[in-house]
Amino acid sequence: MAGIPEDIVERVKAEANIVDVISDYVRLRRAGKNWQGLCPFHDDKKPSFNVEPVKGIFKCFACGKGGNVFTFLMELNGWTFPETVRSLAQSLGIEIPDDPRERQQYGENERLAAAVADAVRYFASTLRSDAGLTAQAYFRKRGINDDTVARFGLGYSVDDWTGLLQKLTASGYTPEELERAGLVIRREGRSGCYDRFRGRVMFPIYTATGRAVGFGARRMTEDPDQPKYINSPETPIYQKSRVLYGLFQAKDAIRRRGLALMVEGYVDVISLHQAGVETAIATSGTAMTTEHAELISRYCSRVVLVFDSDQAGQNATERGIDVLLRRGLDVAVLRLPDGEDPDTFIRKYGAKEFDARVERSMSFLEFRAGLMKRAGDFEAPERLAGAIRSIVSTIALIPDALKRELYIQKISSDYHIPEGLLLQELKRAVGGAENRRRRELLPRPPQPVPPPPGQTGPEEAIAPPPEVEAPASALPAPLKLDQIPSAEAGLLGVLLQGDPQMLEHVFARIDPEDFAHPVTRELVGLILSHYVNQRSFSVDELVMEEMAPELRDLVTLLAISRESISVRWERIDPDIAGPNPWKSARDCLIRIVRDRLEREFRRLQERTREFDARQEDEHENEVLATIRDLALRIEDLRKASVA
Ligand SMILES: [Zn+2]
Repeated sequence: MAGIPEDIVERVKAEANIVDVISDYVRLRRAGKNWQGLCPFHDDKKPSFNVEPVKGIFKCFACGKGGNVFTFLMELNGWTFPETVRSLAQSLGIEIPDDPRERQQYGENERLAAAVADAVRYFASTLRSDAGLTAQAYFRKRGINDDTVARFGLGYSVDDWTGLLQKLTASGYTPEELERAGLVIRREGRSGCYDRFRGRVMFPIYTATGRAVGFGARRMTEDPDQPKYINSPETPIYQKSRVLYGLFQAKDAIRRRGLALMVEGYVDVISLHQAGVETAIATSGTAMTTEHAELISRYCSRVVLVFDSDQAGQNATERGIDVLLRRGLDVAVLRLPDGEDPDTFIRKYGAKEFDARVERSMSFLEFRAGLMKRAGDFEAPERLAGAIRSIVSTIALIPDALKRELYIQKISSDYHIPEGLLLQELKRAVGGAENRRRRELLPRPPQPVPPPPGQTGPEEAIAPPPEVEAPASALPAPLKLDQIPSAEAGLLGVLLQGDPQMLEHVFARIDPEDFAHPVTRELVGLILSHYVNQRSFSVDELVMEEMAPELRDLVTLLAISRESISVRWERIDPDIAGPNPWKSARDCLIRIVRDRLEREFRRLQERTREFDARQEDEHENEVLATIRDLALRIEDLRKASVA
């Protein structure tokens, strides 16, 4: 085998545990003496993929793919055999004798990975040398000890334009290769390259399998002219959307605990690990992606997002939650006390307190609802509908129907919203979410082989399916309450409480035509027909009915705000609402009938002008009769005693 002695290949084969290796790609569950999971080679719905550790082989019963630990990595990653052996050797800590001349025979990606690995060694040795004294002091000041430095491969890049360039070209790499590996930058308008990282502490970024693919580099001074972090660019071996910082070091703990902690920065990851919280990981230089979520789901089913108090509620947080939920992960949020980040918190309070807080972390639902509550979205009825819709649309992202319904029940009871309404909204939202999910889960080549330089990538190969229009929402577009006469809204609020005596009392005194607003008129008609047919009526029945969108708007608005409805109307119009529903009803009735009287009176005046020159009009008499009738009804209402 080119470049790798046969005895090393044998040793790697003997020491590599196929279950461990495959677990970096597939979440495996024990089944007797074997292990099972979803096959990564086809779109697997039930676990067809089997791993037999005793024989050291894997086999898919559905698509027929099978082989040993080497063929698994080669097929899935598109690696060559030497590349596979080297990658395994690296994660097993088996040293492969290094001869720069043999690197000529490496594949392109292997050479880039070897260059990054050499850079890791170079930065680490620089840190230990006299040139690294300030960096050593920096790590000491941040409380990062030598074990942690070694575990995370931390290093230092001297403040020199060509230190790394000279070192690695002397080892046989071309400047073009180093440029493709993201280690050096080509000078603009001139020939030659210079080091990308200078005078910074270096955080190597590893894949889950322990291959170094890039760097995060932090400045050590508070120089505002320098960016705090510089990161490697995307390269053929480093795709930011597919790599999580710290996962290589965290994966065993994550698997054991069944949960991963997402923090913000490299230093947070490192100091949590050092304190014994070894489940911490972070994204590197990008927001959370679908690929990140997929990667996490190979190791655990639960993610706790850890945020500084001032970060919570930012868009990145929100997006992260959605991406993780869509992948079927349980998501919780841990907000740290004001002014603390994971690094400062763990120093002050220790791992035990941190773990305790992780245990008590709130579900994404409580987190979202809390943000909305603070923003006052549950106060204003016209914003409540939007808030509910937003929460339901998040729940719709969860692939598991049973889990979705449990969350719906929780909101229904926490916020006194009819479950039927939420389920309807969920049905609509799930339609949209399904479409999105289908688009995202389209079969993709697993770990696409990066294109040779000069060619375009494979991304354009997949055309998204056409947008499918989502069914109409069960929840209204914000409806303006002030468009509805306050007495009409107030009376509806009373009616919607569903007290049969009240319904009888009101419908003995009023008709739907008395209402001025066409939507309230229609809704009262609907309530009346329920009442007439069943002698009872409830909002929960009403929300299940087919009705015009504007009518549904109003029902929803009233349904979701009925708990404190009289309080709200009071704010709108103090005259018509009070703690006593019978008094409110009477006041509203009087106002409604009086308003109708005024409308009829205006109509009479219109007619009188219109028919000025003519003789007596039949209609005029009719209107006059109506007015007389209305006046009598107001009298009656005034006299009616308040129960
Ligand atoms: Zn398969």
